[in-house]
Amino acid sequence: MKKFFIAFFALVAVFSLNAQEKQYPEPERMRPGMTEFWTPQPKIVTPGDILTNSAPSDAVVLFDGRNLDAWESVKGGNAGWTVHDGVFTVKKGTGDIRTKEKFGSFQLHIEWLVPENISGESQARGNSGVFLQGMYEIQILDCYGNETYANGQTGSVYKQVIPLANAMRAPGEWNVYDIIYSAPVFNEDGTYKVAPVVTVIQNGVVLLNNFTIRGTTEYIGHPKVKVHGDGPIVLQDHGDPSPAISFRNVWIRRM
Ligand code: MG
Repeated sequence: MKKFFIAFFALVAVFSLNAQEKQYPEPERMRPGMTEFWTPQPKIVTPGDILTNSAPSDAVVLFDGRNLDAWESVKGGNAGWTVHDGVFTVKKGTGDIRTKEKFGSFQLHIEWLVPENISGESQARGNSGVFLQGMYEIQILDCYGNETYANGQTGSVYKQVIPLANAMRAPGEWNVYDIIYSAPVFNEDGTYKVAPVVTVIQNGVVLLNNFTIRGTTEYIGHPKVKVHGDGPIVLQDHGDPSPAISFRNVWIRRM
């Protein structure tokens, strides 16, 4: 037993000697500057006047109240929708319109108005939509006291997600969409390497927070993943017979 204790203490002594001999570097003490990055500095962008909702200095203005020169008909030729009083209104039956320019990731601002004399119900009441890169529809619909399937209501990625809120203003009042979109990256086999992601804010209220889009927004069937590059903003001429909706103050910032 005595021998055992001697051996044990000898072992402890060797270990403690070892511990004393080894010198490890002290981690450097954190200083405030270690977590402060000074470059690159964010570029300076003059904000628009929020009272008039004018565009920021680096935006591509898609509609400034005067003409639809930045747009064309998806069917071909000029955009056939009606410009009047600083706004433009869907001309039913002329088809969807799209921007002539194509975009990747962006921040889009677009204001839209459901007319006071709106009629119809569910999806047949002030239906339009904003297609991101011409592929993925963010629903526009009069959801003010108008029930429809929740994943097809205003601010949904159509039939893919239920918005976090219903922030509708009444017919006759302008609604504001701010849409922040990250374009997808594709694998060689045509699947998403990085899926498209979208944040939608309506009238200052977050409807979608970083939602991962699953594919195309189909009326019938499941989303499809289709390879695409930069694409236009497309606005929908929906086939329902309710009075047409209007748009104003449309601008986009590339990201
Ligand atoms: Mg629609």
